[in-house]
Amino acid sequence: MMNAQATPAEVANVMQHVRDRGYKPIELPGADRLAIGVLGSNPSSIRDAVVALPGVVAAIPVSKPYKMVGLEWHPERSVVNVGGVPIGDGSLVVAAGPCAVESEAQLLETAAGVAAAGAGLLRGGAYKPRSSPYSFRGLGAQGLEHLRAAREVTGLPVVTEVLTPSDVAVVAEAADMLQVGTRNAQNFSLLEAVGEARKPVLLKRGLSNTVEEWLLSAEYIVAHGNNDVVLCERGIRTFESSTRNTLDLSAVPLVKSLSHLPILVDPSHATGHRHLVPSMALAAVAAGADGLLIEVHPSPDDALSDGPQSLTLEQFASLMDDVRRLVTALRHELVGVPSHEAR
Ligand code: PEP
Ligand code: MN
Repeated sequence: MMNAQATPAEVANVMQHVRDRGYKPIELPGADRLAIGVLGSNPSSIRDAVVALPGVVAAIPVSKPYKMVGLEWHPERSVVNVGGVPIGDGSLVVAAGPCAVESEAQLLETAAGVAAAGAGLLRGGAYKPRSSPYSFRGLGAQGLEHLRAAREVTGLPVVTEVLTPSDVAVVAEAADMLQVGTRNAQNFSLLEAVGEARKPVLLKRGLSNTVEEWLLSAEYIVAHGNNDVVLCERGIRTFESSTRNTLDLSAVPLVKSLSHLPILVDPSHATGHRHLVPSMALAAVAAGADGLLIEVHPSPDDALSDGPQSLTLEQFASLMDDVRRLVTALRHELVGVPSHEAR
């Protein structure tokens, strides 16, 4: 932490000292402070030397193992712009679409339907991670073409999954946002590769990841130069087998208390059952999520993947009506009811 009157030369001197000792200095954002973050293994070993430099007032250890994604380091909330759609600015964004892009007709019908119902982003998989090698694994490059066509027609920015570092360039060229799925949430070479991409990343929580592990995965992406990370809670593995996963909604306020990154909730993969999706979607909005990820298919019974959890277009439109009512009600509470202090 630099003295508020520290000169640019003093700041540069501290940066150089940190570099000379083999650590990475980063100037930290902040309206009312001038701070330099020090990244590397065991930075406390250079603490005394740094504190003694001119212009330095204190060296404060960051208590969490993730640094750049934590609130200690970056107290202002991040807003991630996805093809012109902001996530994390206080509005609620809904990303919707089929689990897999199956054909141009299927995608265009779904895209038009979710756009009309109020979705802000179109989400569909061209490259699908499947538990069984015999399941439909997506249309690949052809699927990316269909996604481009759907964006053209609807104007919705496109979110799609990337499975391997070697596909990042081609997927990033077609997509407005790269999804890293639950199975790849700790694929560190993929995290590094999307960290080098110039597109926002939607990072799903790993099937059995703690919140700390998940934030460390986000840290990989940010540490590789990509600040535009949005987290997505999609349920975790527990002993319960009547739902596909267990939706950890407490992760929403918990993540908000630890990190400046926006967070979406995916009730489709979390529950695995269409009839459970609307109530969990509304609960996620109430819990403070910045948005939702919902699987929608024009004919879920015929879907090539995740049909049982996909909403029909009609069900999605009806959920969106409820979401709008809930958002309005929550806002009315905030705007219309005097706060505790005011009373
Ligand atoms: C998906 O979004 O279709 C998907 C495969 O999700 P997850 O990685 O959360 O299972
Ligand atoms: Mn799916």
